[in-house]
Amino acid sequence: MTDKNILDICVGGIWRAGRGEAYASLYPATGQAIAHLRAANLDDVDEAVSAADHAFRHSGWAQKHPHERAQVLYRVAQIIRDRAEELAQTQRLDNGKPITETRALVASAAATFQFYAAACETLEDCLTPMRGDCLTMSVHEPMGVIAAITPWNSPIASEAQKLAPALAAGNAVIIKPAEITPLMALELAAICVQAGVPAGMVSVLPGKGSVLGDALVRHPLVRRVSFTGGTGTGKQIARLAADKMMPVSMELGGKSPTMVLADADIEHAVNGVLYGIFSSSGESCIAGSRLFVARPLYAEFLDRLATAAQRLRVGDPADPATQMGPLISEAHRATVERYVALALSEGGTIRTGGKRPEGSGVDQGYFYTPTIIENLGNSSRTCQEEIFGPVLVAMPFDDEDALIEQANDSVYALAAGIWTRDYKKAWRIGRQVQAGTVWINTYKQFSISTPFGGWRDSGLGREKGRLGIHQYMEQKSIYWGMNAQPLPWADHGSGPDEGQR
Ligand code: NAD
Repeated sequence: MTDKNILDICVGGIWRAGRGEAYASLYPATGQAIAHLRAANLDDVDEAVSAADHAFRHSGWAQKHPHERAQVLYRVAQIIRDRAEELAQTQRLDNGKPITETRALVASAAATFQFYAAACETLEDCLTPMRGDCLTMSVHEPMGVIAAITPWNSPIASEAQKLAPALAAGNAVIIKPAEITPLMALELAAICVQAGVPAGMVSVLPGKGSVLGDALVRHPLVRRVSFTGGTGTGKQIARLAADKMMPVSMELGGKSPTMVLADADIEHAVNGVLYGIFSSSGESCIAGSRLFVARPLYAEFLDRLATAAQRLRVGDPADPATQMGPLISEAHRATVERYVALALSEGGTIRTGGKRPEGSGVDQGYFYTPTIIENLGNSSRTCQEEIFGPVLVAMPFDDEDALIEQANDSVYALAAGIWTRDYKKAWRIGRQVQAGTVWINTYKQFSISTPFGGWRDSGLGREKGRLGIHQYMEQKSIYWGMNAQPLPWADHGSGPDEGQR
C-alpha cells in the first residue's frame, strides 16, 4: 500500500482530498503511517448530502426494478471476491487484524452483497385482508439519504452490512467510517461505482465523528442513521434523531456472559471461550468477556483455559499463524491497561497476561497479552464496563438461578454463550438470558441470514436477515376504492364511516 493509491474522500462519485485536517492512517502492528489523508470538513458534508439527495431523486437507482438493482449488487459481490486478497491486506494494514480474520471479513462483505441482492429481487409486498370496499396493500419505499456511521474494529464487514441493504432498498448512502480506519469504505464506494451503482449514490466522509458524524445526524436531508459504535455515542445520536423524528438503528457495546455448565464438553468449551474473548484481540462488541463456570469444574477449567491462553500466538498480523494482532492504537492500549489496573484495585488477581508481550516483532506496535482475571464479583466495575480488549473476568457459580441473575445483571445485553451437553438446560437458560444473540455450544458464529442486534444499552433495531432491508424503507399502506356507489357524503349530508373495520 502506498499513498498514491489512497483517495481521501468520495463526494458525489468524485474522489478527492478532503477540506479538513491532514492525518495519517497508522499500521497498529508497527505504529508506522501507511497512508496520509485529508479528512472531510463540514462543507464536504453539505456537498455529499446534496449530491446524495440529487442522485437519489434523479439517478434512476431508486426507480429501477428490484431485480435490476440486484444485478448490480451481485456484481459488487463478485468484484469484492475478485479483489479479495488485496482488500484483506489493505484492511490488515488499516486496523491490524490478523490476515486470517481480514480474509474472513472480506468474504463476509461479498456474501452480504450477494444476500441483499437476492433479498432485493425476492422481497414481497403484500395485500392485506379486505375488510370493506377497499383493496388494501402494504408496500415499502426507499427513504432517501442514509448515513451509515461505523467503528474501527471490523470495517469492511460493518460497512457492507449497512451499505448493501440500504442500496438494495433504493437509497443513497453516506458512509462515515471511523477516523482511524477509512480505507475500506473508500474501496467499497469505488467497487460500487465500478459495478454500476450511479455516481453520487455512495459517498464516503472520513474524519472526526464529533464533527462530521454529528453534522450528518443533524442534516435535514438525512432520513435515517444506521450507527455501529459505542453506547455513549449512540445515545447522543438518538437524542438528536428524536428532534428530527428520524428513525435510527443502533448496534452498540456489550459485556457478554459465557456460561460453562458442569456437564460441558471441556475441550470444546475451552476453545470456544478463548475464541470468544481473544479473537480480534477482544476488540469485538460480542466478546464473551464475563465467564461463569460451574464451581465443581472451575479449578480444572481455569487451569486449562489459562494454559491455552498462554499458548495463543500474539504477533505479526501478516502471518497466517497469528491468532492475536495488536490493539487498534496506543491510546486504546492505555485504556485496556487502565482497566487491568482497576481490576487489581478492586481486589482482582491476574491469572495470566496483564502485560505487554516482549520480543522482536511485538515491541513497536500496540500489542497486549491475553489476560484472565479472577476473584472479582459480577458487580465490580471491571465486570460491568466494556473494556473492548483481550481481558476476561472468570467467576464460579453455584446454581442456575444465581447464574441467570448474574448473567443478566448488566446494562448490556448483546450476546451470551452456553456450554452444556444437556439440551434441556441449554434451552431453559438460553430463553431466560437477556441478549440479542445466544450461542449454544459455539460462540461468535454469524450468518447474514439471521437478525443481529442488542437489547437495552446494546442497541436498538436489528441488522441482517431478509427483513434487514426494511430498516432502510418506509412502509406505506394503499387503499384502492372498489365501491360500486359514491361515498355517502354529498348525497346524504353525513360523513362516510371513518371507523375501523
Ligand atoms: P465510537 O462510538 O467512538 O465511534 C463509532 C463511530 O461514530 C465512528 O465513525 C466515530 O467517528 C463516530 N462518532 C463519534 N462521535 C460521534 C458523534 N458525536 N456523532 C456521530 N458520530 C460520531 O466507537 P468506536 O470506539 O469506534 O467503536 C467501539 C465501540 O463500537 C464499542 O463500544 C463496540 O462495542 C461498538 N461496536 C458495536 C458493534 C455491534 O454490532 N453492536 C459492532 C462493533 C463495535
